[in-house]
Amino acid sequence: MSEVYSYRELVDLLNRYARSYYTEDAPEVPDAEYDRLYRTLVELETSDPSIIAEDSPTRRVGDAVLSSFDKVTHKVMLMSMGDIFNNDELLDFDRRMREFVGTASVEYCAEPKLDGLAVSLIYESGILVQAATRGDGRVGENITANARTIKAIPLRLSGKSVPDYLDVRGEVFMPRDGFERWNENARQNGGKVFANPRNAAAGSLRQLDSKITARRPLTFNAYYVGECRGLELPDTQYGRLKTLESLGLPVNPHIRVVNGVQGLREYYEDILTKRSGLNYDIDGVVLKLNSLQLQKEMGFTAKTPRWAIAYKFPPEEMMTTLVDVEFQVGRTGAVTPVAKLQPVYVGGATVSSATLHNEDEIRRLGLKIGDTVIVRRAGDVIPQVSGVVEHKRNGTEKEIIFPEVCPECGSKIERLEGESVARCTGELVCPAQLREGIRHFVSRDAMDIEGFGDRIVEELVSSGKVKNVADLYFLTENDLSSLLLDPGNDNHKPRLLGTVTAKKLVMAINKSRVVPLDRFIYALGIRDVGSSTARTLASHFERLSDLMKADFNALTNLPDIGTVGAEHIVDFFREPHNLEIIDRLVAKPWESLFSAGIELSPLPQRSETDALALPLAGRTYVLTGTLESMDRNTAKEKLQELGAKVSGSVSKKTYAVICGADPGSKLTKATELGLRVIYEEEFLQNLSKLSLAEKQ
Ligand code: NAD
Repeated sequence: MSEVYSYRELVDLLNRYARSYYTEDAPEVPDAEYDRLYRTLVELETSDPSIIAEDSPTRRVGDAVLSSFDKVTHKVMLMSMGDIFNNDELLDFDRRMREFVGTASVEYCAEPKLDGLAVSLIYESGILVQAATRGDGRVGENITANARTIKAIPLRLSGKSVPDYLDVRGEVFMPRDGFERWNENARQNGGKVFANPRNAAAGSLRQLDSKITARRPLTFNAYYVGECRGLELPDTQYGRLKTLESLGLPVNPHIRVVNGVQGLREYYEDILTKRSGLNYDIDGVVLKLNSLQLQKEMGFTAKTPRWAIAYKFPPEEMMTTLVDVEFQVGRTGAVTPVAKLQPVYVGGATVSSATLHNEDEIRRLGLKIGDTVIVRRAGDVIPQVSGVVEHKRNGTEKEIIFPEVCPECGSKIERLEGESVARCTGELVCPAQLREGIRHFVSRDAMDIEGFGDRIVEELVSSGKVKNVADLYFLTENDLSSLLLDPGNDNHKPRLLGTVTAKKLVMAINKSRVVPLDRFIYALGIRDVGSSTARTLASHFERLSDLMKADFNALTNLPDIGTVGAEHIVDFFREPHNLEIIDRLVAKPWESLFSAGIELSPLPQRSETDALALPLAGRTYVLTGTLESMDRNTAKEKLQELGAKVSGSVSKKTYAVICGADPGSKLTKATELGLRVIYEEEFLQNLSKLSLAEKQ
């Protein structure tokens, strides 16, 4: 993908990319591609300074501002930042700093590099009077009305003494969860889908109608004082950030003072490790001399401060080729297009496929097979195709045709009006729906039957040994041990599952024969019935037979159940095939010779007032990592017995996170939100105290 450009071509291309990025908030290529070309330009200019063009992007900060906004002239310029990409360049930066300072080791203020857009906020006598974008560094756009809608930006400074005048700089950005929620909603309802949180932040802040900005989940962190009058400020960058904090301005919690190059390296590694667990995009770390006096002495180039550098992380967006599109059929028949990509290393992993959500998304992206596409992989979110690099097309690209019949069973694919999802109509004959249904049935929050990996499920379905989930309970050791598994690797022959694994699977199936009612309801895979709805249903209807008889009104009267969910539940229990499977699963063996004999244990019933009186009522907990003393389901049940809610994701509403060994990103997010983290020992102590109190 690396074409050779002449100097002039490079300048023109980079200027075009910069305009799309800064002025139109619609980048044409990933940052990594822009940075690569930019560095080539720098190399050309360094080797022959006589070629440097007036309009070279190396001479300029940002780009011209949109004429639709009022212009603001910054009294103190907003700068860009030099960047480095590897350890040698880091050593070089530290060497330059040491040589200037004249000491063996230098003190730095190290900060995450937030990926949003820079703004300057002016406070007069503590009141926000102006907010402006960076623009070309000297002239920015007046976005005061929009900035006022961002809750993290105080309209009035707090603290004992506020300055007469303060020009504070910081980043406006969109947290990842807000960005994902926004896009998900936009995909379903035909709104504007953004390529990444930076774009989303820039596009949202630069709106002519501030009511639109107000609806976007934006936030702000301060990182620099441009000018301050009427308040004595500390003489270090870190000290100043603390002062900003005391004035009520939010400052990033991961900022540290570090010493020497070793300190810088450790900081870089530490933030890189934390990156995927953060709820916002960062594209590197910013390393600044901590002493303000030294900053002043070093000064600026035309474009960047000499005393700071951005040490960039490996990119979370890369370009690659869309090789093909496959259509996968899920448990409820939903047909999802999946992009098959030329493998590309992005966001710390090699990505070779990415979801394309639905047909509308393919149209929205204007995607064709053979296209050069932008792939984004950030944090825990599954990889996405976020854009097409249209100018890389050469005419050989092919249209993507959404299939009319299911690729697995040949049944018609139907798309109901007003729905974004297309579905295979072959519910009972479709092997793909059956496979996904089994995977769901055996999963941890459902029947929790261990050992049924993808290959085993696939083979059980294709060999015809399992035609519905009830068949699982009639599998013999012999049925299982004789399964021929495809190792998925061309060099190896299929192998027999064998008796040892078969025995384990049969034991796991037997163990699942006694199950709480809510987990069984969830396992049935009724559309829109997740584990929390299943719990609501189980605690309201004491017996499965009562739930099966419930009508639409009885269901919609329950908390958490809307009209669509209620319809799905009623429909599910009207379908004769479903009733037959349930009968095979739960009838008593003496009632039916062919019953799996599953025993459903009801949830302990409590009146609403009793439930509110439980010790953990109203508190939401999240579990992360592996607990030594019990599995996750048991921990969840114990918490629920004490009245707590257990959620799968951390948010401001979470009361505490319970943390076992090898915790995931939920712990990082909890720390970031300042939530309480309870480790296993304390959890067990609390559990036994509370359970005792409950019994008394
Ligand atoms: P920059 O983004 O590399 O660095 C300066 C900016 O960093 C500041 O303006 C500020 O907004 C931000 N920043 C975040 N955290 C900070 C902190 N703690 N302290 C100080 N500043 C902090 O420089 P730039 O000139 O704004 O833009 C260059 C970047 O934009 C490159 O990463 C480039 O890839 C990208 N870009 C991309 C395209 C494209 O087409 N994809 C085009 C132009 C520019």
